[in-house]
Amino acid sequence: MNVSVLGAGTMGHGIAQVAAMAGHDVTMRDIEEEYVENGLEAIESNLQGGVARDKVTESEMAETLDRISITTELEDAVTGSDLVVEAVPEKMALKQQTMQDVEALVSDETVIASNTSSLSVTEIMSALDKPERGVGLHFFNPVHIMALVEVVIAEQTSSETLTFAREFVEGIDKTAVEVGDSPGFASSRLGVALGVEAMRMVQEGVASPADIDAAMELGYNHPMGPVELGDVVGLDVRLGILEYLREELGERFRPPQILKRKVRAGKLGKKSGEGFYVWEDGEIVGASEDVMDR
Ligand code: NAD
Repeated sequence: MNVSVLGAGTMGHGIAQVAAMAGHDVTMRDIEEEYVENGLEAIESNLQGGVARDKVTESEMAETLDRISITTELEDAVTGSDLVVEAVPEKMALKQQTMQDVEALVSDETVIASNTSSLSVTEIMSALDKPERGVGLHFFNPVHIMALVEVVIAEQTSSETLTFAREFVEGIDKTAVEVGDSPGFASSRLGVALGVEAMRMVQEGVASPADIDAAMELGYNHPMGPVELGDVVGLDVRLGILEYLREELGERFRPPQILKRKVRAGKLGKKSGEGFYVWEDGEIVGASEDVMDR
């Protein structure tokens, strides 16, 4: 199939990679030459890592790269496409505009998917003339490693589109779970619920971040504890999702004060060097001191 991926950032380049590895011809589009080139470099580096770990052969790497083209022109990216997956920034107006721009350039049969992690797929697809062709494909980061894709069924998604989406996911060697278009889908809602309770526990002095994380890692076999995961995802991102889920689902998702304080102080987690932990070169080097500890 011809697959178009819009956005070459964290998610877009990963989606382009896994689609090309499965044998699809992929065109990846971003708004600046530099961004698409960076995306392609990230794919090359992932594949090189795969070769080094004997997960990918040299020829698979070469064939995968051969199947990927890059462009900054939307028309070049989507003309003749069977499936368009958008992975542009998480803004409703941008996603809806993207839907309209894409629909004007593709055939009636083209399926259009959104990789949104929190917005309403139903609302995104309402910008289409033929919203029944719209569906959510929620990939996880890093895409080439994570096995799950949530297939998000919008109010308008037709059964043909759903079948197409499920088969596409299976064809790229991922596991599809089907979820209705409900805030936080299945994964984020549960993951964030655990994360927010862990933050409240830190705030209440129940246990330290390290002990809470160890409890979940060693007691429940989670690969990473909920406090560390918040730091890795980014506390600003977590706060944004919580605010949205609170609005949609109620007070159980109310962001705790400790999280707001950290975000206001620019303590965003791994990316800023401090969140609930202190980070250096991508590794935890200690606990962050909260103002309430002083
Ligand atoms: P990102 O900022 O890394 O990448 C977005 C890219 O889109 C940027 O390179 C930007 O230049 C480009 N872009 C902006 N406008 C564009 C347009 N009109 N056409 C094409 N490209 C455009 O963001 P990301 O983390 O890859 O997130 C993308 C989407 O994936 C968001 O909806 C996000 O919620 C979702 N998502 C992210 C994660 C994650 O862990 N990062 C996980 C699942 C889903």
